[in-house]
Amino acid sequence: MAEIQLRNLSKRWGSFIGVNNFDLTIADQEFLVLLGPSGCGKTTTMRMIAGLEDATEGEIWIGDRQVNDLDPKDRDVAMVFQSYGLYPHLNVYENIRFPLKVRKADPATHDERVMKAAEMVELTEFLHRKPAELSGGQRQRVALARAIVRKPSVFLMDEPLSNLDAKLRVSTRAQIKNLSHELKVTTVYVTHDQIEAMTLADRVVVMKAGVVQQVGTPTDIYDNPANTFVASFIGSPAMNLMDGDLRDGTFTGKNVEITGLNGADGPVTLGFRAEDASVAEAGTSGAVNAPLYTIELLGDATMLTVRAGGQMVSVKAHKEYRAGIGDPVSLAIPAAICHLFDRTTGARIA
Ligand code: ATP
Repeated sequence: MAEIQLRNLSKRWGSFIGVNNFDLTIADQEFLVLLGPSGCGKTTTMRMIAGLEDATEGEIWIGDRQVNDLDPKDRDVAMVFQSYGLYPHLNVYENIRFPLKVRKADPATHDERVMKAAEMVELTEFLHRKPAELSGGQRQRVALARAIVRKPSVFLMDEPLSNLDAKLRVSTRAQIKNLSHELKVTTVYVTHDQIEAMTLADRVVVMKAGVVQQVGTPTDIYDNPANTFVASFIGSPAMNLMDGDLRDGTFTGKNVEITGLNGADGPVTLGFRAEDASVAEAGTSGAVNAPLYTIELLGDATMLTVRAGGQMVSVKAHKEYRAGIGDPVSLAIPAAICHLFDRTTGARIA
């Protein structure tokens, strides 16, 4: 069992707060993704779990041990970094075997364990090559094999895909997901890429400026973002947001009116997802009319962006939809697809 408990964990450098009161239990075998923009504190959180950074306050438990005062090597965690961290003078086989040697695992088991790990990441044919003779994707697979060769209690992965090109990132991502399913080891994975987070995570923690904004399954976070920050960080494109006022169930923004909403009167930000809205016939009652700003063909759909309510708004239309830039477009934005946030705090209200 390797449940991880982070109890009121904080990191400060002088008066600067890198991580503020992070409090979460990560279940045994869970794949948890820390997601947020650069500088939000996700790497620092992971480094505190690894023991590479001391916590200023709070407790870290791995299984039934409080590990705050343990050295990294005694925490039974294996790390995978963006920069691979391979030993250049060792070949692939020796790199993968390295943790077994350091931990003095029974030498009679080394060969079998290295071969099994290499096989899991499809490196069997490269065992005699040095890291310099491998592609970036192959190097990252060596780093993965080195992490899985001894079954640690916890995997910590810091942006392991960011140095790979787009295609390789997708295939390596699938491989990590499959490995994690096979190995069933509690994993904390850091990324600023929301698609990586959505595709890999059992649960996602969205962070901003050291503070946790929301913890939830990818579906929770996508369907019920806790605030405008999460709404605008998750999804591609991000949720459309328009500022306005709610009165008697009617939202009024710049050139936009949407009726039938629930919520108390006041200044609000209204949000909806591009794929939930649709293009309406010109003149449809209740539709929002706006000139087309740009049109992008995605293959499976056509993305329209208009200026509505003083903001850019994207809507996914049928793949055969065509229009010219500047043409008038009517958008159906029914109340049922709308999210409402407090305009001042950004917190979700409906
Ligand atoms: P990135 O995606 O860019 O790696 P991150 O979310 O992982 O960002 P952290 O590396 O955790 O962010 O950094 C959080 C904040 O703490 C940043 O503002 C960073 O500048 C600051 N920070 C990190 N290490 C130190 C340090 N040793 N001294 C002072 N401030 C630091």
